[in-house]
Amino acid sequence: MTRLYLEDSYRRGFDATVVASREGACLLDQTVFHPGGGGQPHDRGRLLLGGEPLPVSRVEEDPEGRIWHEVGRDLPPGAGVRGELDWPFRLAIMRHHGLMHVVNTVAREQLGGVITGVQIGPERSRIDFRLPGFTREQIPAHEAAVNEVLARGLAFSARLITEAEFEGRPELVRTLNVLPPVVDGKVRVVEIAGFDAQACGGTHVHSTAEIGRARMVKFDNKGKDNKRFYWELDAA
Ligand SMILES: [Zn+2]
Repeated sequence: MTRLYLEDSYRRGFDATVVASREGACLLDQTVFHPGGGGQPHDRGRLLLGGEPLPVSRVEEDPEGRIWHEVGRDLPPGAGVRGELDWPFRLAIMRHHGLMHVVNTVAREQLGGVITGVQIGPERSRIDFRLPGFTREQIPAHEAAVNEVLARGLAFSARLITEAEFEGRPELVRTLNVLPPVVDGKVRVVEIAGFDAQACGGTHVHSTAEIGRARMVKFDNKGKDNKRFYWELDAA
């Protein structure tokens, strides 16, 4: 199964063949549908079977690394389908996902924060840090530092490194308790040119300029050392 979303995050449609079906979900020989993970939600969209649209209500990766597309019906193996992403949703997720890379790096460098969780949404994303001593008064400077990076128009790129190289570079892991996917002994690293590199299996924009301007709209204390930040983006 080819993960087209890892090759080109801007690809919106594809033709595929049904490999297997079970309980209303199907496995395809290739897909642009991201199954979610690492704080990113699964993609939305539809499959077209002979011109009939079937909404994809859920996309899920099983423990064997197969991606199941839930369409509420078992499709015959061998059937040809056309897949189409809900593109406005995906693009919003890619902009927010890119923002989370920038926020976690700025928080680490500027504040010494360790990320403990992230939940990416199309309108608002949430990021949690172990960040003792952070106060509201620091928000404007943090927000300004994030926007300064976004405005630089830095390029995103992805490459695969070996598991052995990965183990020697602990700084590539950002989210505590969440290990990045290892596929065929390789780990995917997403770089922001001249700024940061971290392990990630998600979908991203091409440049920080596409993310635009960001605002921290809410800040919560979650216990003594843990802080929760909510971020939104200006319209593209
Ligand atoms: Zn990422």
